[in-house]
Amino acid sequence: MFTVNAYGATSATEPLVPMTIERRDPGPHDVVIEIHYTGICHSDIHHARSDWKQETYPLVPGHEIAGIITEVGAEVTRHAVGDRVGVGCMIDSCRECANCRKGEEQYCLKGNTLTYADTGADGRPTQGGYSTHIVVTEDFVLKIPDALSLEAAAPLLCAGITTWTPLRDWGAGPGKKVAVVGLGGLGHMAVKLAHAMGAEVTVLSQSLRKKDDGLRLGAHSYYATSDPATFEELAGTFDLIVNTVSANLDLDAYLSLLATGGTLANVGAPAEPVAVNVFSLLGGHRSLAGSLIGGIGETQRMLDFCAEHGLGCDVEIVPADRINETYERVLASDVRYRFAIDISTLR
Ligand code: NAP
Ligand code: ZN
Ligand code: ZN
Repeated sequence: MFTVNAYGATSATEPLVPMTIERRDPGPHDVVIEIHYTGICHSDIHHARSDWKQETYPLVPGHEIAGIITEVGAEVTRHAVGDRVGVGCMIDSCRECANCRKGEEQYCLKGNTLTYADTGADGRPTQGGYSTHIVVTEDFVLKIPDALSLEAAAPLLCAGITTWTPLRDWGAGPGKKVAVVGLGGLGHMAVKLAHAMGAEVTVLSQSLRKKDDGLRLGAHSYYATSDPATFEELAGTFDLIVNTVSANLDLDAYLSLLATGGTLANVGAPAEPVAVNVFSLLGGHRSLAGSLIGGIGETQRMLDFCAEHGLGCDVEIVPADRINETYERVLASDVRYRFAIDISTLR
């Protein structure tokens, strides 16, 4: 075991504080990563504050991790010391079930191991990337292409793959009309990716405050959902709507924007149940779906696609001692479009 500096929550109600945590010594298949940047995902806030379930504390969030390998176990073959790498939301899975064999480790039937707020194979709580180093089995470590800076790549490990997967699964591409609800961390990557895939992209945001940004990121049009005329004008328009909002919406209103056979794919994860009038689905043969991050192989394909198309996250880099302040800004939708912690400020 070795001790590393970290920043984490000690309860659901108090601000995050500096702390130290123990990392395991690398086993034969492990790599040690010196973390350079970690993105701040809205899920970190949900976990830190026990929005979804009662968490175990101390809890060190962070699942958008980018850094450099400093040590490898004796049997590691995929990575080498000095490699630029990333770690996302999962650090292990059973690797044997039908879903793992399909490359969908996020749906591991025996339950995968989350990067933090979970229990590792050694029975200890997993702790995330608001820390100087992490030790991960090599198969769950992604290669960051040279064309992407570490800070712009870090949030791709969650925000990128989470929006990539539904866009791929529901066929975003030329001739398809895709709407993205919420222009935050996930939403801004959904716009960039859907545009790069060739779809016609519309942003549905609470206001027109970020319209210039939305158009610059690749949107074809931009509407305020606070204006009831938006729902009249866009009724029956979209093949796919990707909902990235962290709070509950009136899903019936958004379902009415789908064309016949269209899908509303939810990636936002509000804690409270949603209500839907089933007639919103019946009439237009519409689907209400959900999607969770993405598999390891798919994450590498997403990173390579981003490198090829020059797509990184738009990040605002912050020192670790501003994490609590950034949480408040994320909750106020005041983020353009992802905070990334400069982990050198924790060393
Ligand atoms: P974020 O940066 O806070 O973005 C969410 C955006 O939603 C905001 O920027 C805002 O956009 C909009 N919004 C917020 N509150 C709203 C409200 N009350 N009504 C309408 N719109 C609202 O968060 P994020 O990091 O992108 O994460 C978004 C959600 O996805 C979170 O719930 C997170 O836990 C979840 N998530 C899920 C997965 C998965 O695998 N499914 C992975 C990662 C994250 P505008 O200002 O443009 O309206
Ligand atoms: Zn996340
Ligand atoms: Zn499995």
